[in-house]
Amino acid sequence: MCFSSLPYFSDLAEKSCGVKKIGAFYFFKTEADFQKSGFNHPLAKQFIKKITVDALEYWTLAQKQIARAYNVIVQAEIYLAEVPYYRPYLWQDFLNMGGLFENKHIASFSALYAKHPIILNCSGWLSGKLKMDEGIVPTRGQSEILINMPAGPSCHFPDLGLYIIHRPQNKDCILGASHQEYDEETTARFADSEQLLAMAQHFVPYSPETHSGSLVGIRCGRADVCLDTEHYSRPHGQAGLILHNYGHSGSGFSAAWGCAEHILNTIKASAASQNCTPAI
Ligand SMILES: Cc1cc2nc3c(=O)[nH]c(=O)nc-3n(C[C@H](O)[C@H](O)[C@H](O)COP(=O)(O)OP(=O)(O)OC[C@H]3O[C@@H](n4cnc5c(N)ncnc54)[C@H](O)[C@@H]3O)c2cc1C
Repeated sequence: MCFSSLPYFSDLAEKSCGVKKIGAFYFFKTEADFQKSGFNHPLAKQFIKKITVDALEYWTLAQKQIARAYNVIVQAEIYLAEVPYYRPYLWQDFLNMGGLFENKHIASFSALYAKHPIILNCSGWLSGKLKMDEGIVPTRGQSEILINMPAGPSCHFPDLGLYIIHRPQNKDCILGASHQEYDEETTARFADSEQLLAMAQHFVPYSPETHSGSLVGIRCGRADVCLDTEHYSRPHGQAGLILHNYGHSGSGFSAAWGCAEHILNTIKASAASQNCTPAI
């Protein structure tokens, strides 16, 4: 689904909406670790090249020393979605298309059957409660925001669970992220902050003035994304359709457009079989 999203991000990068193509470095301890990563996908090959430490121009000696501990270094072109700009853009797009919003807790899908012929379940990790999905692993993630940082390389160290991403438009740097399974605590923890700041210190030196705060979210961990469909009977015997879309773990932004495309096709196919046209 992440790869199906790429053409959409390519279009978005042409607009002023917080999406940009950036360069980033990925560090793998072994070839086997690289093979297990998403970069091993045939479609990824056009965006990456393997490099050596010598190609890391403008890196400090301390940074190069860290890089030398990794056998596979990948230089990649990735799409960065700067959330403070991207989400308002998506929201405005939704409103422009006539989208209506109501903020309401849903105790069960059946509460929606009478009014809605199609229900799209995007309730994230809380699908564990709403759909009774026992395969969901709520996975806490804490990240740190640093401001007034000099521009530097965006780096990912999967073995450490660390990424350092410079956000050019927001003029800050994100250090992420902890990965704590079966943990639903949404307040920030000092120990997590300290750990991330210490791991990243050779790339983004910490000072109390530059650390502007922590962010905490709960990922919807699952063995794979759930894009199941369910049918239900509406009052007066009409058919209803529930489309599930959750379980993206740490890739919900990356996979969003591919999943949306899949869901739209499912709705169109269902409408065609019932001889009606959805207004989308
Ligand atoms: C630290 C961290 C770093 C991440 N980094 C990345 C990254 O680099 N790239 C990437 O692609 N993804 C990343 N992710 C994952 C990404 O943020 C998620 O996959 C994405 O936000 C999931 O979006 P969602 O809308 O499906 O679910 P959510 O954002 O969880 O939204 C679900 C919504 O449903 C609502 N809801 C739930 N139950 C009910 C109910 N019963 N009634 C009414 N409303 C309900 C909730 O209130 C919430 O608003 C990261 C996540 C974390 C925590």
